[in-house]
Amino acid sequence: SGGCVLAFSEAKPENGVLSDSSEADSKKKKVVVLGTGWAGINFLKTLKNPSYDVQVISPRNYFVFTPLLPSVTCGTLEPRSIVEPVRNIVRKKNVNIHYWEAECFKIDAENKKVYCRSNIAGNLNEKEEIDVDYDYLVIAIGAPANTFNIPGVAENCHFLKEMEDAQKIRRTVIDCFERASLPNLSDDERKRILHFVVVGGGPTGVEFSAGLHDYVKEDLVRLYPKVKEAVKITLLEATDHILNMFDKRITAFAEEKFQRDGIDVKTGAMVVKVSDKEILVKNGGGTSTMPYGMVVWATGIGTRPIITEFMKQIGQGNRRALLTDEWLRVEGCDGIYALGDCATINQRRVMEDILAIFRKADKDKSGTLTVKEFQEVIDDIRERYPQVALYLKNKHMRTLVDLLKDSKGDAVKGSVEVNLEEFKSALSQVDSQMKNLPPTAQVAAQQGTYLADCFNRMEKCERNPEGPLRFRCEGRHRFHPFRYKHLGQFAPLGGEQTAAQLPGDWVSIGHSTQWLWYSVYASNDVEVGTALKMSNQPPEKINILVCPEV
Ligand code: FAD
Ligand code: MG
Ligand code: MG
Ligand code: MG
Ligand code: MG
Repeated sequence: SGGCVLAFSEAKPENGVLSDSSEADSKKKKVVVLGTGWAGINFLKTLKNPSYDVQVISPRNYFVFTPLLPSVTCGTLEPRSIVEPVRNIVRKKNVNIHYWEAECFKIDAENKKVYCRSNIAGNLNEKEEIDVDYDYLVIAIGAPANTFNIPGVAENCHFLKEMEDAQKIRRTVIDCFERASLPNLSDDERKRILHFVVVGGGPTGVEFSAGLHDYVKEDLVRLYPKVKEAVKITLLEATDHILNMFDKRITAFAEEKFQRDGIDVKTGAMVVKVSDKEILVKNGGGTSTMPYGMVVWATGIGTRPIITEFMKQIGQGNRRALLTDEWLRVEGCDGIYALGDCATINQRRVMEDILAIFRKADKDKSGTLTVKEFQEVIDDIRERYPQVALYLKNKHMRTLVDLLKDSKGDAVKGSVEVNLEEFKSALSQVDSQMKNLPPTAQVAAQQGTYLADCFNRMEKCERNPEGPLRFRCEGRHRFHPFRYKHLGQFAPLGGEQTAAQLPGDWVSIGHSTQWLWYSVYASNDVEVGTALKMSNQPPEKINILVCPEV
């Protein structure tokens, strides 16, 4: 008999085994993908090896182009222009892919099974439970907004993560204007209702504040002329600056622009409690209360309960995200991969492996490394430990040999020979360049593409491994490790101004920068056709206002 692909629980015995797979399909390796966001969808789009039987499970039967989500809150874009139905994507594939609209609530790594339930409207009381077997599991379920367990946040604030959130914000903004327009309100009450507070000065909070400001100034004040004096937008940020992950020139530009626009930016402001009409804010020594009409909470991401539970199960303890190796394999598991916002890569430190690297390089076992011995392993070191290249760049050094020479001082010219201690001290600062990858669409998309590419070449790479030399084990790894390629970081600032920070520290702020911004994502084979085609102007010349720092 064929493998039971999907079995419903006893609740619906008449369904029995639901499987349209033939005998041949049942021999295929079963891949289960959880999530249809940036990571999951890019995995599916890139997967083309027909030797898999794929099941995609996600409570959302569409992909959302999140960088444009803030535009939905102010009606600049309609929801349908920034989504893509999963079934459209799946339909076009030669690979056997089934989609189930359901949410996974438990992962059983030991028995290679995931447990899911459908939450389709109408099924709410009698929730269908589904259990699905896998050979390979791809966890790409993203991360929820982080409330930091601050009282009242979950109950009283809006988030901006999902399409429903954006639509709800849009309705609430209009509701506030309608409510403020009703007769018999005191001035204070009207001001409260039209006080929009945004918590979090990262890209999402900044873009939303800017968009809301434009929306109010360009559209709403014409529709509600009587209440326009009462409108106020406040942006609260806990650290000293907004957009603090950006170049300081961008931060300064944004802060000045917001000041001119009349957006009240309060830095060093910690929210300690949110009730239904007031926010309690700690600023410096004291606390103050701030009456509000609507709060949008955009302070970064937390952890889904299912991930917290799973990390406990596999001995990863209490972390924000699932730990994987550089091949995106979940540490401590077999056949499980995790990518995107729910995962973090455990990058290897050079210092952890220093002895093994030295021994491997010291071919003649002399106890010292010559330049020649060293040169033979340089490529593998650079590939296995990308922080090395970063370090050399920051120190304005060209090669690892330069680094060794530098550590030996001026005495050595031409040839250099180092012992273990000297080797250690030369490389001792290299790991300081390691940084976790940011939780962004760019990272998630590239990881999805990378992993599918590994799956596509699985058999071939069994025979001809291609990864770098691994210093802890003998031989080569099957695949190259995942390497992120940063294409730039963007922050729309309202008034059609977008700040861009491009690789190589180029900073650009201007009207046409947004074209650059779209193209970074559009080039990634993501079809958000409607949104991008909406504006029919050709991308203009890019207006570089600020040159790179030298
Ligand atoms: P997601 O895209 O969040 O997808 C997760 C998927 O898993 C969803 O389909 C969800 O329905 C599903 N899921 C959830 N729970 C379960 C479950 N239990 N079982 C099965 N499926 C589940 N990044 C950039 O690089 N540039 C930007 O300009 C940018 N702008 C952004 C603007 C906004 C408003 C937001 C919210 C994010 C923005 N990001 C941006 C970040 C980017 O969207 C995320 O980093 C990216 O979505 C992460 O991809 P992911 O696949 O890990 O998760
Ligand atoms: Mg995903
Ligand atoms: Mg997404
Ligand atoms: Mg991640
Ligand atoms: Mg030697």
